[in-house]
Amino acid sequence: MLMSQVFAPTLRETPKEAEIPSHQLMLRAGFIRKNAGGIYTYLPLAVRVLQKIERIIREELEARGCQELLLPIIQPAELWQQTGRWDVYGEEMFRLTDRHGRQFCLGPTHEEIITALVAAEVNSYRQLPLRLYQIQNKYRDEIRPRFGLMRGREFIMKDCYSFDRDQAGLDESYRLMYEAYTAIFNRCGLTTRPVEADPGAIGGNATHEFMVIADTGEAAIVYCTECDYAANVEKAELLPPAGAGESSSVDLPVVEEVYTPDCKTIKEVADYLQLPESETIKTLLYEVEGEFVMVLVRGDHTLNEYKLAAHLGTSTFRLAEDDSLVGTGFVTGFLGPINPPAKIRVIADYALQAGGPYVVGANKADYHLRNVVVGRDFTADAFADLRQAEPGDSCPRCRGRLAGARGIEVGQVFKLGTKYSKALNATYLDENGVAREIVMGCYGIGVGRTMAAAIEQNHDEDGIIWPLPIAPFHVIIVPVAYTDPAQKELADKLYAELTELGYEVLLDDRDERPGVKFKDADLIGIPYRITIGPKGIQNGFVELVTRRTRSKIEIPLEEATSKIRSIIGSV
Ligand SMILES: [Zn+2]
Repeated sequence: MLMSQVFAPTLRETPKEAEIPSHQLMLRAGFIRKNAGGIYTYLPLAVRVLQKIERIIREELEARGCQELLLPIIQPAELWQQTGRWDVYGEEMFRLTDRHGRQFCLGPTHEEIITALVAAEVNSYRQLPLRLYQIQNKYRDEIRPRFGLMRGREFIMKDCYSFDRDQAGLDESYRLMYEAYTAIFNRCGLTTRPVEADPGAIGGNATHEFMVIADTGEAAIVYCTECDYAANVEKAELLPPAGAGESSSVDLPVVEEVYTPDCKTIKEVADYLQLPESETIKTLLYEVEGEFVMVLVRGDHTLNEYKLAAHLGTSTFRLAEDDSLVGTGFVTGFLGPINPPAKIRVIADYALQAGGPYVVGANKADYHLRNVVVGRDFTADAFADLRQAEPGDSCPRCRGRLAGARGIEVGQVFKLGTKYSKALNATYLDENGVAREIVMGCYGIGVGRTMAAAIEQNHDEDGIIWPLPIAPFHVIIVPVAYTDPAQKELADKLYAELTELGYEVLLDDRDERPGVKFKDADLIGIPYRITIGPKGIQNGFVELVTRRTRSKIEIPLEEATSKIRSIIGSV
């Protein structure tokens, strides 16, 4: 295609509203334009990228027995009322009313509508398993749409749903989809990690998120450097430390009170006593269903309230406020597990089963206790996994070292179970004629988000660096002056030959300075650039520049096409 004909209006300046590289670069390079908050037009270069991602998705899903269909965007309220999500979704759902007063929504997701379809059409075990997917716009009225395609109000999703006879069938569907997702993101040229994630609001009992690793990612994850384990930091499990409970405290000095004026935070105490924060214990007082509970974590660790909720068996709790401590004898800033002013349940993080001695609050204003040995000077009612995982912790699977990274969630696989089939009466008759609920899974990929994440992972100060499999064009030919007949002749010949070989080629035929053309090629992010100049023609070569490495090589004219083919490889 000729560059002069490509509809890709570029911008010299970065628009102020764009905060992250993918948003900035897609606006600057002429991939998207904003219509309203979180609602975008995809320009031709973006559509080329999206279509490539979609083609890879389709191929990998069809190879695993999935069939594409297309569900309506406008969905009747009744289905959502049956599953109880009409109210749960709240303000995030775009709702509309037709001329007869019937209520509808713009689909934020499609579990209801597809389960209703399957409930109506599937009756027998012979029709299962069934795996159906679509690629389509979704709508969520985000309170703060931002980051371009990362958090839009209208966005393109691939959503797939599996319908199986039983849990074993679901396990197999899940395994296939996990395998498909791994293949899809690999083929897109992206570095991703599947991580164990929290099921959140969708419900279900197992889920993985596929994260594109990028410094700008919104999610903090940890992964094992020795095995496949990876998880969101909120979700990552931690084990009791090696050697937990082995006490060698006999020779340690006894507990002593130490004056710590106004030292209410761990940092203040550690600084004042010139100790690392890891030699202190953080004491948190929670009100749990009307009762005080003391929660202990090491001073340098962060309590994870999801884990606390799991341990307590309730999420109805809050940090005790000063008001509720009046008259109790508990002193904020100086709380500790030794001689509390009232009998209290004490829960401690696993990490406190090792290390020490520690400094703890003395339950007395301006005082702490030091030389405190866990097990000798106090015991907890329970030890549990209560803290946030951090790089350097031990892997819960193999005890290897966990490392940290940031990620952008581009896909998620869920085991839904029977939540929707129960609500919408999706049953089948088994071999014995007994009615059973269909067991479901759901599997999403944010298609636009994958494009944005690809940019977050692959860019530099000059622009986008597309991975070859999803680049809008593979090669750009830049004659320094297309008006020069010799350059034009060579450029046209290379264009024809490379196109013949199956490459998607851009030819910059514009009457612009070479610097402008090079800048645009870098900004748009075409993986390979062939430069044709008068000097090269004179000496018999063209120059091939690799966008990612900026490496330049000179290729003799007579073998240009075959050499370029051997460098780029197949697409
Ligand atoms: Zn491991």
